[in-house]
Amino acid sequence: MTVTIQAYRFALGPNPSQEAALRSHCGAQRFAYNWGLNRIRANLDQRRVEKSYGIPSEKLTPLVNWSAYSLRKDWNTVKAEIAPWWPENSKEAYASGLANLATALANWDASRNNKRKGRPLGFPRFKGKRSVLSCRFTTGSFGLVDRDRRHVKLPRIGTVRTLESTRKLARHVDRGTARIRSATVSFRSGRWFVSFSVEIQRAAPPSARPDSSVGVDLGVKSLAVLSTGEVIANPKHLEAAQRELRRLQRQAARRIGPDKRTKQKPSSRWRKTQARITRLHTRIANARRDGLHKLSTRLVREHGAIVIEDLNVAGMMRNRRLARHVAGIGMAELRRQVEYKAAWSGVKVHTADRWFPSSKTCSGCGVVKAKLRLSERTYHCHACGLVLDRDLNAARNLAALVEREASSPSCGARLNEPDGNPPKTAPWDAAGIATGRPGPSGAGQRQHGNALAR
Ligand SMILES: [Zn+2]
Repeated sequence: MTVTIQAYRFALGPNPSQEAALRSHCGAQRFAYNWGLNRIRANLDQRRVEKSYGIPSEKLTPLVNWSAYSLRKDWNTVKAEIAPWWPENSKEAYASGLANLATALANWDASRNNKRKGRPLGFPRFKGKRSVLSCRFTTGSFGLVDRDRRHVKLPRIGTVRTLESTRKLARHVDRGTARIRSATVSFRSGRWFVSFSVEIQRAAPPSARPDSSVGVDLGVKSLAVLSTGEVIANPKHLEAAQRELRRLQRQAARRIGPDKRTKQKPSSRWRKTQARITRLHTRIANARRDGLHKLSTRLVREHGAIVIEDLNVAGMMRNRRLARHVAGIGMAELRRQVEYKAAWSGVKVHTADRWFPSSKTCSGCGVVKAKLRLSERTYHCHACGLVLDRDLNAARNLAALVEREASSPSCGARLNEPDGNPPKTAPWDAAGIATGRPGPSGAGQRQHGNALAR
């Protein structure tokens, strides 16, 4: 039994008055966020100016505290004056905006002091009218409605119908294995959603074959190749929708879009087409996520150890020739899913080092090739004569990483570092793809249209 925090998201079908209330709450959230940001910014600017006049630091205007608690306290003293309409919305709407601001400021502060991983963060920006509408409730009565598993309860907004069954969460709630901590409503790609953050006691079924280990080679041609020889086809949702996408993009091109130089505002017809494009992208993403969930669940249920490559997905996404293919498969998403599901059922996940030459190594004798073009779909070993599908060879090499560790833990071979087989070529290639593999064949040529059909 593990206790985890999980989100359950349901699409909502609010009636017109509920939708107005949802919009109003999200607007209130944005108002409070922008109010707080303006206040903090003015304070910091004031201090900066004073400093430039040479005022000693103890005589500067005192720093405004930006914790969520004190922002809320300050808001409560001024709300009657600056937002006389505040009682129209739940106080949670304002609190959630201020809490978001406190988090944003804390992240910026940590990033500025090198206490935060990742890219440097800038100072928080004001939220515009077209920013994502969202609002979080942490107190008040919210949750599922017993009646028919088709409704959720939200503070001030009331009982809203869901577009899908809430069964999965309802079962946990009925058994007493779930505690709903907060509810966040948001408007995304033309639809309202509620996302419950739930503390769940989960008893995931243990793996069917705890002794079996599997290597997963993520690819572009097929979604994944397993060391068991199974090939999981790439469903190519994006390619299937490409025709409709192109049609909509032509439609958008005929309409008046925004232009920064002439300050042209986009027409409402252009916006309508953009909304259709967004919806189509959402549909593709949903279909893709569904496939990945099915694969990751199956991997975790059927094996005791899973080996995946540590692909530099962010790096590959920066390469414009690879970005579409990588995003189209959701490599990073699959890894994320495998990792959390494995943790639930006690399955081990091993990540092979980014420089591990999984494709270039012979899974039969262990010889590493100096070069292997991506166009060579079959692996021919010159040392032992092995002939094998390229991706299957890579998957077997990955699986061998844990098998070797399990059989002789003291042999000195660390995971991620096959002994005696250092990569013979520099692992970087010119394109900056950190896979240790050569770039894609035909790179630089026309890649639109049926790029994945290679
Ligand atoms: Zn060989």
